[in-house]
Amino acid sequence: MRVDVLTLFPGMFHGPLTESILARASTFVPSDGTTADRQEEKPIQIHLHDLRQFGLGTYHQVDDSPYGGGAGMVMRPDVIVSAIETVVSEGEKSGMKKPHRVHFSPRGKTLTQENVEQCAKRDWLILLCGHYEGIDQRVIDGGWIDEEVSIGDYVLTGGELPAMVLVDAVARQIPGVLGKEESAMEESFSESLGRKKEYPHYTRPEEFRGLKVPDVLLSGHHKEIEKWRKEQVR
Ligand code: SAM
Repeated sequence: MRVDVLTLFPGMFHGPLTESILARASTFVPSDGTTADRQEEKPIQIHLHDLRQFGLGTYHQVDDSPYGGGAGMVMRPDVIVSAIETVVSEGEKSGMKKPHRVHFSPRGKTLTQENVEQCAKRDWLILLCGHYEGIDQRVIDGGWIDEEVSIGDYVLTGGELPAMVLVDAVARQIPGVLGKEESAMEESFSESLGRKKEYPHYTRPEEFRGLKVPDVLLSGHHKEIEKWRKEQVR
């Protein structure tokens, strides 16, 4: 899978994409094009693009004041569309077909595990991170965006954290990303759990500060354990 991220703050992605499971799963191409691990074929290639590079004039302006007045700035449609078109054309040159273009916005549809699974089936995602008051509505109305996604009913400063949330959730669905000991099969909101929340987990010690592990989990009785776990799903 290829993921292109359009952002004003590519530096924000360093920690999340260069540590732990995402580091193992993805080739990370920073906005300056350099990458340490390009040779190794990994399940996800993440390309970061600095929206400022598409800005206008000497100061690489990306935003302007809102028509109708009011506080805050709005990201210009000409800048964003030029960035999307450039990234699409770059991707196509490297053999990619039909990107799914996602814009993060509190106005979007709230992200669910089902959306994540759908995204994981795609070969190519383009993720547009808004900032300031958001982007000019004509980018959406003009058909340059396929899906608007919200990660919840609260407002963040930008679309970077939502983009990282989506990449992380999508990555765990891609075969080969999780190790044997970590499985995405029977997890909260998965189809196999009826989209419900998973049962609770326990490990050693058997008793911790007076709190005991449920007897059934110590019984070695697999059918009973399975029954108990099913009962705990909600
Ligand atoms: N004026 C917008 C509003 O009231 O809905 C908020 C803009 S917010 C400060 C700046 C950017 O952060 C948005 O354009 C979007 O890309 C991102 N963002 C903020 N909250 C988000 C959320 N809950 N889900 C997805 N993206 C979000």
